[in-house]
Amino acid sequence: MSTTVDERISDEIEALEAILMDDVVIKRVNDVPHIIETVVHPSTGDDVDQQFVCVTLEVKLTPGYPECSPEVRLRNPRGLDDELLATVNSQIRDKLLDCLGQPVVFELIELIRENLTESNLPSGQCVICLFGFAEGDVFIKTQCYHHFHSHCLANHLIAGKKNYTEELEKLPSWQQMQAPPYQQTCPVCRCPVSCDVDTLKKAPLPVDSVTAPPFCLTAELKALQLKMAALLAQQVAKGGVVGAGDTGPPPLTITSPSDNDNATNGSSSGHPESTKTEALSGVRPNGNSSNDNLSPGSPHSRPVYRGPYRGFNRRGKPGRRGRGAAGGAPR
Ligand SMILES: [Zn+2]
Ligand SMILES: [Zn+2]
Repeated sequence: MSTTVDERISDEIEALEAILMDDVVIKRVNDVPHIIETVVHPSTGDDVDQQFVCVTLEVKLTPGYPECSPEVRLRNPRGLDDELLATVNSQIRDKLLDCLGQPVVFELIELIRENLTESNLPSGQCVICLFGFAEGDVFIKTQCYHHFHSHCLANHLIAGKKNYTEELEKLPSWQQMQAPPYQQTCPVCRCPVSCDVDTLKKAPLPVDSVTAPPFCLTAELKALQLKMAALLAQQVAKGGVVGAGDTGPPPLTITSPSDNDNATNGSSSGHPESTKTEALSGVRPNGNSSNDNLSPGSPHSRPVYRGPYRGFNRRGKPGRRGRGAAGGAPR
């Protein structure tokens, strides 16, 4: 260890590594500790299954630490809502002021752990049904610390597998043989998960979904619908909605510099798209030298479609071609 490290810091690091072992990561620059990182869980003894929340604490040691406060950040909160995070962050700020001049990382870990232990229940909604977690709900925590009603996750995984099978069957048989097997994934972060769907499926419906009043179209909702419809019409009129109908100028037209030179009075429009068109000139991958001097815009002079450039389909939507182009091989 470098002699330039303050003894208080080296003692603190040594203690952290001795106590937290693999659960703490010390990032060093030129042998000098720079960032301390650890995932904090609620205290539940050794019962990891009962830990429903967690957060990563990142402490960046400033040059003057511990005489100056380190930079502290909470990352990857799981099962914690913004309100609780704000509370913890404010307590951290107070603690940093209290502890000026002395190592503070253990104090921070303890402070965060106390808060997590008090709030060791997922807050927020089940992203599948959008109902919250209520007393009596049966829910599951995935390996990635995301929470769902068991019933909802079962339905999600069943639908995911059905979709995978349907997509697989669309592929030619040689691709079917090469396709990776179906893998359950978390609907929030797409981490691989492994859940027993049959067991999940037996769980009751979310409590709030049972007690919720039946849906009815209120005057307020009708007014909102009208407002949104007007907004959509406005966006469509301005060409801001990609793929809405086939009328109007194409949202993205791929041209070459010669197209631009030749497009004299054409450039049809004060549309923002025309700027985009120019910006994209020369991105064409298939390199057809173009002689068609048609301006983008008017339906009769629309340039010949030359195929998508990487990662975009013919309407300029990202993703459908290029990556995963092989008939949309399911993942
Ligand atoms: Zn749910
Ligand atoms: Zn997840």
